[in-house]
Amino acid sequence: MNNSGTATRYGILILLLSYVLRIFSTMGKIIIITIILLFSVHVHAQPYVLVLGTAQDGGYPHIGCRKQCCEQAWNNPDNRRYVVSFAVTDPETKQWWLFEATPDIKEQLQDFYELTRGAYKYLPDGIFISHAHIGHYTGLAQLGREALGAKNVKVYALPKMASFLEQNGPWQQLVRLQNIDIIPVAVNSVTGLTKNIRVQSFTVPHRDEYSETAGFIIHTSQKKYLFIPDIDKWAKWDKDIVKQVQKVDIALLDATFYSADELPGRRMEEVPHPFVKETMKLFSETEEAIRAKIHFIHMNHTNPLIWDSTAQQDLMHAGYKYAIQGMKL
Ligand SMILES: [Zn+2]
Ligand SMILES: [Zn+2]
Ligand SMILES: [Zn+2]
Repeated sequence: MNNSGTATRYGILILLLSYVLRIFSTMGKIIIITIILLFSVHVHAQPYVLVLGTAQDGGYPHIGCRKQCCEQAWNNPDNRRYVVSFAVTDPETKQWWLFEATPDIKEQLQDFYELTRGAYKYLPDGIFISHAHIGHYTGLAQLGREALGAKNVKVYALPKMASFLEQNGPWQQLVRLQNIDIIPVAVNSVTGLTKNIRVQSFTVPHRDEYSETAGFIIHTSQKKYLFIPDIDKWAKWDKDIVKQVQKVDIALLDATFYSADELPGRRMEEVPHPFVKETMKLFSETEEAIRAKIHFIHMNHTNPLIWDSTAQQDLMHAGYKYAIQGMKL
């Protein structure tokens, strides 16, 4: 929410209250208005997450797809979705961090600017990158000399991801020209960003051709968010996903594919992911409050959760949620 918009709204509220408060003494009015102002500052000073993209690496619509799934997005730009990304904001310090530098970074930075009505700097105070697959880091190119020519944007990455960027073009040029400053993050370490926000980085099993693959838990003064956009299968991880979700307030989880029959003509074993159906089965015995934490994200164009309202409603009826671009969490 924007500050001037909030201020106007509270201004009107206070004006209305001042009529109501005529029955109180001057001191009574001051006390009541102070309480309201303190409450409003408290409510709006909490960090939050703003979802900037929900699609798998290829985006939605998907290159070369003329099927029903993408036809509705080619025909109507309102149905298009950007690649998985979100902002973590600290309204108190007016800082923010971007998770993933996607091929859609240009639109996502613009969306963030518009959704927060310019209350934050255009560029984030840092970017966290999960791994070296195209949907998660190639947007960094937009920060380079050919485009923005950014200065010293902090890029947080696990060790292999950090050296991949430092040692390979064109990313290495971004480092050399100091468009970006790589901040290597140790596996299982916690990075303090403000007194309200800390980020815990860990690894998950995935096709690690060029880098390891990170997952994150973002600890804010208000909530804990688990983010695992890509993982091969829950069973391959040394942690129990059900327990991990229990520990947080919101879990943004890999929903690349809904079910096993989604890529006719391609071997699903080449691109393993937990199917949404499998994740739902894993959580089917848990309490409703646990299931309600799960927000499926990173949807491939073939996953009906990104385009089919019936599938979306069925998921909600089963007690789960799906991430929506522009959603505040
Ligand atoms: Zn991905
Ligand atoms: Zn498609
Ligand atoms: Zn990946």
